[in-house]
Amino acid sequence: MGDGIGTGGRGVGGLPEPGDFLRKADEVERTIRSDPAAVFHTLLVYRALREQGGCPDPDGRMRGLRERLADDGAVSVAQSAVLARALMTHQEVGMGPQVAADLADVEAGVYGPVSVHNAHGVAIVWEREGALERALDWYDRALVTAQVDGREERLRNAAAEERAKLRRRIGLEPDLHDEEVRRREEETGELDRMYYPADGERTLTPFVRRDVAPEAADAGLLGPGGDTDFYFMQQEALWRWDRRNGGAHLRDLVPLSVAELRHLATLFERSVDDDEAECARDLFLAGLCAGRERVAWPPEEEGRCWCGSGDRYGDCCLRTVVRRSGGPG
Ligand SMILES: [Zn+2]
Repeated sequence: MGDGIGTGGRGVGGLPEPGDFLRKADEVERTIRSDPAAVFHTLLVYRALREQGGCPDPDGRMRGLRERLADDGAVSVAQSAVLARALMTHQEVGMGPQVAADLADVEAGVYGPVSVHNAHGVAIVWEREGALERALDWYDRALVTAQVDGREERLRNAAAEERAKLRRRIGLEPDLHDEEVRRREEETGELDRMYYPADGERTLTPFVRRDVAPEAADAGLLGPGGDTDFYFMQQEALWRWDRRNGGAHLRDLVPLSVAELRHLATLFERSVDDDEAECARDLFLAGLCAGRERVAWPPEEEGRCWCGSGDRYGDCCLRTVVRRSGGPG
C-alpha cells in the first residue's frame, strides 16, 4: 500500500502530508526564543516526521536551530536544543559518541552557564546511565543555579523532586531540600496524582476536540504553531514519546471548551510565579475533570480517533506520526 508521501494532495482522512507538517515545524522553530519545552517538542515533531519519511535529518535540523539560537543570544535555549537531542538519542540507543559529545559540551559550558532546566536534563541522562553520584551532582547544581524567586521556581521544584527520589534511592538521609519537597507533596499530593499517577493508572489530560480547535487556534490557545492539524500531530507525538519512555502510559483525555481552555491558559501563566495560582489551576482542572466525558488514549487502531474527527484512529492522528507502510511503527 502506498503511503501517499509526495503526492502533493491530502491523505486519507483529509490529513496534511508530512511536508505540510514540516513547513509548520519550520515556522514554529522561527518563533522559539525562550521556551526550552518548545525546543523539545519541535525535535519530537521532526523525529515523528522522520518516521514517515518527511524529515530525513531531524538531528541536523536541531543543529541548525541551536546555531541560530546561539547567534540570537538565546544561549540557554540553544543549550536546550543540544540537550534535547542528547536525551532523545540516549533514550533510543543509549550512550553513543554523539550523546557523549553533546553532554560534554553542555557540561563544559560551551553554550554558556548551564541553566536549571538543562542541569536537570544532564542529571536525567546520568541517572539513566546508572552514574548516580554524577546525577546527584547535577541535580544539586540545578538547585543552586535556579533563581529562587520568579520563573525558574517551577523548574527548580521539578529538579528538587527528582533529586529527592534519587537521594532516597541511594539511601541518603533527607536534607532541607528533601523536606521541602515532602511538605509540597503533602500539600498538593492528591492533585499531583491526577497528572502523574503510578504505573498503570490513567493520566488525566485536558485537550480540545477538532470541532472546537479552530476557534481555540484563532484565539491563540493551541500553543506554538497555533494550527489545528499541527496541534493534534504534536499531541500524538508527545504522548507516544511519553508512553515509550516511562512517562504516562495511558491517558484519559478530557475535552475542554474554548472558554475553559482560555481560563486554564491564564491560570497556567500565573501559576509559574504564584503558588496560589498553581493551586487554583489544579483545583479548576480537578473540577473540570470530575464527572466529565473522557476519551481513552490510545484508542484501538480500528476505533474512532481521540481527536473527534470521526475517522478511524489508524487513518487519522496515528497516521501523522507512524509510517503506514513497511510494518508496525
Ligand atoms: Zn485524529
